Amino acid sequence: MARAGEVIHPVYAEMQTTVFEAMSGLARELGAINLGQGFPDDQGPVELIEAAARALREKSNQYPPSAGIPELRDAVCEFYLRRQGLALSREQVIVTSGATEAIAGAVLALVHPGDEVVLFQPAYDAYAPMVRRAGGLPVSVGLQPPAWRYEAEALAAVITPKTRLLMLNDPLNPAGTVASEAELAMIAQLCVAHDLIAISDEVWEEVRFDGAAHRSLMSFPGMAERTVKIGSAGKIFGLTGWKSGWMIASPQLALGLARAHQFVTFTSPPALQWAVAEGLALPDAWFAARDAGWAASRERLKRGLDGAGFVVLPNAATWFLCVDLAASGIGLGDREFSERAIREAGVASIPVSALFDGVGPEHVVRFCFTKPDAMLDEAVARLDRFRRSL
Ligand code: GLN
Repeated sequence: MARAGEVIHPVYAEMQTTVFEAMSGLARELGAINLGQGFPDDQGPVELIEAAARALREKSNQYPPSAGIPELRDAVCEFYLRRQGLALSREQVIVTSGATEAIAGAVLALVHPGDEVVLFQPAYDAYAPMVRRAGGLPVSVGLQPPAWRYEAEALAAVITPKTRLLMLNDPLNPAGTVASEAELAMIAQLCVAHDLIAISDEVWEEVRFDGAAHRSLMSFPGMAERTVKIGSAGKIFGLTGWKSGWMIASPQLALGLARAHQFVTFTSPPALQWAVAEGLALPDAWFAARDAGWAASRERLKRGLDGAGFVVLPNAATWFLCVDLAASGIGLGDREFSERAIREAGVASIPVSALFDGVGPEHVVRFCFTKPDAMLDEAVARLDRFRRSL
């Protein structure tokens, strides 16, 4: 047999294990506190756990419809009407096994060989390889810390007649920033002017702080028919292991998305779909309590890091805080910091340059704060000692 490197597609042959899996694997091996990969360190909301257990016993455990059970597709529509004022219909919603599958399905359905796809950097490290595997060419627009703003000139400069698609992640992971109304309007105008489709990864839409608002790119003039909006029950409910998400588009685009999805995973576990449908119908007060819990953890980690001399960048969304190493007087690059912090201090983090497809700033690391108080306090104490040891 030929060598693996000749058999495996170059996109995968030349790829490393994702930073999230690598960091979590190392954290498990070393017994480190894992503030790397983003996940809450609890069982998840009891309402959804109970609903899933009930559904496992009482509902069918055989293949649900490929695009999702109608009850969940309807619940997604009702949720977005209530929370974002979006008017959607069931045939626009395709349920997927997590947002990562939605990204794959959308890219497979929309990218033609030779297409250029605009990506903002930093970005989820799944975007660029998926685009390449689909035969497209990722074209990057770099965002700069600390504000990570979107600039019209930089975006317009990379659009060519070959550009078919743009991928946006708002709110933005790892930065934890939220695009302004003006920035979104600018991106929407460029999409309309150049006839681009937008994949709008809005998985952090429900994780916002300090009164930050979320507006879907889909709601801007001319965007309803050219946007694929991606959402995640894993993020909304803090149930990342459920791998439950969806993609939403015009009925016409949704048909193509459904065809891509049907031959990636075909469908996702029905009990989890029933539970997510119940969860999405929880009252606004339930979501407000969820927000308050996340906000308290964010505040606790921020205060702890501030107190230990780390400079925390402004954020308004996501489960993450970013630290500016250079501004904190730490001379290490982000990868070296993360590598040494997990081995020497027992705390895992994500080096933000790993989320650049190419070269990015190397002085920012990301910490996840959706953890119990005692775990956050211990992580801060360890990081404080580590910092003094440098
Ligand atoms: N979005 C997650 C994070 O930023 C990672 C997703 C994954 O590991 N599949 O931590």
